[in-house]
Amino acid sequence: MEGDDDVEMREWCHALPKIELHAHLNGSIRDSTLLELAKRLGEKGVIVFEDVEHIIMKYGRSLPECFQLFDLFHILATDHETVTRITKEVIEDFAAENVVYLELRTTPKKNEAKGMTKRSYMKAVIDGLRAVETVDVVLFDSSNENGSESTIINGTSAEMKRRKIYMGLLLSIDRRETTTAAVETVDLAVEMKDLGVVGIDLSGNPVIGEWQTYLPALKHAKEVGLPITLHCGEVPNKKEIQAMLDFCPQRMGHVCYLEEEEWKTLKSLKIPVEICLTSNVRTERVPSVEYHHFVDLYNAKHPLALCTDDPGLFSTSLSNEYFLVASAFGLSKGEMLQISQKAVEYIFADSEMKKSLMKVFEDAQRKLVL
Ligand code: 5GP
Repeated sequence: MEGDDDVEMREWCHALPKIELHAHLNGSIRDSTLLELAKRLGEKGVIVFEDVEHIIMKYGRSLPECFQLFDLFHILATDHETVTRITKEVIEDFAAENVVYLELRTTPKKNEAKGMTKRSYMKAVIDGLRAVETVDVVLFDSSNENGSESTIINGTSAEMKRRKIYMGLLLSIDRRETTTAAVETVDLAVEMKDLGVVGIDLSGNPVIGEWQTYLPALKHAKEVGLPITLHCGEVPNKKEIQAMLDFCPQRMGHVCYLEEEEWKTLKSLKIPVEICLTSNVRTERVPSVEYHHFVDLYNAKHPLALCTDDPGLFSTSLSNEYFLVASAFGLSKGEMLQISQKAVEYIFADSEMKKSLMKVFEDAQRKLVL
């Protein structure tokens, strides 16, 4: 059982305004929703509910098991209505954790049987943003040439005093995709800039696919000015890690299997790192939180952001990730506030959005007991 100090620290981490830069939509689905969807598909005879129930509820999964589970998630969440529902719930859950800026990433998917195209999948995601009831969702409009107007997409002026969650969407390229499919995703991201799409991610099973396959799409994204984040070094793959560092994206996720020279390059390039502690420990990329490369990067004052990766899949929350850092490395509340506030610098939105967020942190600084 946790002592009073831990309970107090958990509450403080919950109250801290937080910036989430690495969260996958389908990795953030509530267990209760997954079970409900599985039950429904079981009743329709599409799956055998008893076969999937224990997979959904299993605690602690290897990386290959996680990717098996994603295939199941994609069977469960294949129609527009479900995508909208999941998106709404995921945003409400992040807002309930006092996440004040959420960059949510998802892989646009085609499903001919359901009449789903990559575009209609994304439209269902945006419908989910609009359906959020508990907070106002403020989207960054990167197509606005005067800079920076952000749009409250589901609030009314009478409700302006409600809590807000600022948001951006990242479109993920899945490593299973062809070059043509990856370029299609980048083109869709460009088309959806005025709907809150702020950048591109490369993710998916790290043992599948070749860097050269995605490179044309990523170069295209760079040319049209879309910021890019890459899942990097989740498995030992020296050639790919070097190619990713040479590409110099705006951010990188994970960076678990870098060697000495690659750490040096990462640090000299000052590429911000999305740190996913629980995810890396649970998938056995690192032996424990205490041995996580977070501490080396933090001590080196390297730009970083604490993130959840897949809070549903790994039964974590961003508040919990801050608590883990506090417990494992003995960081003070002031230091954790600084980590959260610094992450504002690495978001894929412009200076106006950053200003709004800095104000949130100034207010918090006055209210939080350090
Ligand atoms: P979605 O893009 O369907 O909303 O979210 C789930 C997808 O995100 C997975 O199918 C996978 O492609 C990607 N993903 C989620 N977590 C991880 C991770 O830890 N590593 C990698 N490489 N990809 C992930």
